[in-house]
Amino acid sequence: RAASPCPWLHRARSGRSAPPPAWASPAAHAPRPPPPLPPPAGPLRYRRRTAGGARPVEPPPPPPPPRGAEREPPPAVDFGDPREAFRSKSSAELLRGLVVLGLCAVGPLVEHNRELLRVCQRVLGQALFERLMKMTFYGQFVAGEDQEAIKPLIRRNQAFGVGAVLDYSVEEDLSAEEAERKELDSCTSAAEKETGGAEQREKQYRAHRGFGDRRGGVISARTYFYADEAKCDQHMETFLRCIDASGGSSENGFSAIKLTALGRPQFLLQFSEVLVKWRRFFHQMAAEQGQAGRAALEMKLEAEKLQEALANLGIATKAESQHWFTGENLGMSGTVDLLDWNSLIDSRTKLSKLLLVPNMQTGQLEPLLSRFTEEEDLQMKRMLQRMDVLAKRATEKGVRLMVDAEQSYFQPAISRLTLEMQRRFNRDRAIIFNTYQCYLKEAYDNVTVDVELSRREGWHFGTKLVRGAYMEQERERAAQIGYEDPINPTYEKTNEMYHRCLDYILEEIKHSWKANVMVASHNEDTVKFTLRRMMELGIHPSEKKVYFGQLLGMCDQITFPLGQAGFPVYKYVPYGPVNEVLPYLSRRAQENRGFMQRANRERDLLWREVKRRLLTGSLFSPNH
Ligand SMILES: Cc1cc2nc3c(=O)[nH]c(=O)nc-3n(C[C@H](O)[C@H](O)[C@H](O)COP(=O)(O)OP(=O)(O)OC[C@H]3O[C@@H](n4cnc5c(N)ncnc54)[C@H](O)[C@@H]3O)c2cc1C
Repeated sequence: RAASPCPWLHRARSGRSAPPPAWASPAAHAPRPPPPLPPPAGPLRYRRRTAGGARPVEPPPPPPPPRGAEREPPPAVDFGDPREAFRSKSSAELLRGLVVLGLCAVGPLVEHNRELLRVCQRVLGQALFERLMKMTFYGQFVAGEDQEAIKPLIRRNQAFGVGAVLDYSVEEDLSAEEAERKELDSCTSAAEKETGGAEQREKQYRAHRGFGDRRGGVISARTYFYADEAKCDQHMETFLRCIDASGGSSENGFSAIKLTALGRPQFLLQFSEVLVKWRRFFHQMAAEQGQAGRAALEMKLEAEKLQEALANLGIATKAESQHWFTGENLGMSGTVDLLDWNSLIDSRTKLSKLLLVPNMQTGQLEPLLSRFTEEEDLQMKRMLQRMDVLAKRATEKGVRLMVDAEQSYFQPAISRLTLEMQRRFNRDRAIIFNTYQCYLKEAYDNVTVDVELSRREGWHFGTKLVRGAYMEQERERAAQIGYEDPINPTYEKTNEMYHRCLDYILEEIKHSWKANVMVASHNEDTVKFTLRRMMELGIHPSEKKVYFGQLLGMCDQITFPLGQAGFPVYKYVPYGPVNEVLPYLSRRAQENRGFMQRANRERDLLWREVKRRLLTGSLFSPNH
């Protein structure tokens, strides 16, 4: 067996000393991003570290162009005007929308949709079934069968100011038993299977049979199960085709990927546990130094005391830890903050001792990562290579790559690996976008810590902000297995968290042109909140720093008025053959049923527009 080397942990901390990658040269890729606006003047806020260790203050940036001074103010956007909302739609599409949303409101139909679809398929035969689907659900929520077929819809949306995030939506239709078997097998290492070592892992970061089928209670997101390395390669090829199609079909396109499609989830589980334990240890140290309850970035450990604690716990002698907390790992004030502490994971985990973390309750040192077999070690490296291939292709094609957020037991690792990609690929512009789920109690800490890292290291922060798709499953898993629920206690708390995180990023955009955010939400209040704050902060839509995102076939009354008013707005555009996107369609039906109030509003607007066209005699006219 080979000891787990964890190559992603060993990468140079900021990579600043490494030569710029080939794609960073101006001639290396097209289209080139527009030259960045000079950063705004004002009080110096950010420190940047150097290899020498001190944190010199950045030189003052050149003065900015006066924000919004010579530009038209952004137009007001009306989300209640059916004519604006459906200007791009033919009358047949409006009627289809009414029928589909109407069917989604019928409880028994939605509950038994999978069985009903199967019966329809058998009774009608494949050809007729496909036609029926294209006239209804498939036509409403899916753009077409392949990259060619979706082009007309993408062009039409573009003409109305709406971009595309391509999302190949084919899903395996596994049985629950198959999903459970695959999950248990791929989330446990060979060593753990032999020795039962998985029991030593924290409950949250172990696979559990009852929750092996990760699709349970999830309607907004697709789920991948690990089969083998060849399957992961296939997923990578699919993502590559998506990136190519995004590059070919629109300027400034986006493509979405999921990391659970690219490798064995076991690594994501184990790495998540490592990251969480390191962070928890930092918080415990902070509590011992009387700083419990502070926001993550406000906690500053006194290096002297920390070294004493590390020595007492047997992690490192004072002499050993002396040089950890000098230079780039120590703030000027002699304190260690969470970012300093995290950087130790990069630079120190090659010391086998630091693969151990102290359990404050038992006073024991416990292993963070079990040993991997050579095959597992290779599988882990291949996952990282696949991510690398995708990021390079996205850079070449000028396509932004959004890494979706997934379950809380994978998410620390997903987010950290994405951050590593951002450090490498976001030097000139934001190519890689991370996703933050605001239903998580720790969302604000996660956002602020990562923004601060991007400031210190000088790369472009890119994020998609969502509320989160896995709430029911997360809650049930936490309750049944017995760990703290990671989700905010109420919907209102999630909303508060969303707006707080968003506000922090908008402030960051105001002060530094390097941050970017996609407000991925169907919530009208959140979109209005964003517009108001953009106006107050003087962030103009033409700067293309704040994007909006909704799913195809949902909430057009939000997407199209935004696009027509000149705000950068995108639809997640699913595509794939009819038979293979049925699980996706089934989830769309459930989501529309779940958010009845919103679906009712959409139906009301559709109905008003149909009536208006009828009364003005423009129902069959192309110029409605
Ligand atoms: C373009 C796009 C991309 C997306 N990408 C991802 C992704 O990568 N990862 C991901 O997880 N999701 C993703 N989602 C789904 C998203 O997280 C939400 O599930 C979905 O959009 C509904 O949230 P909302 O803001 O649109 O609407 P709302 O109806 O305002 O919010 C519903 C959401 O609020 C939260 N919530 C509801 N009730 C409670 C409660 N009692 N307590 C606490 N919280 C509650 C839940 O997150 C729920 O999904 C994406 C959505 C879009 C539109």
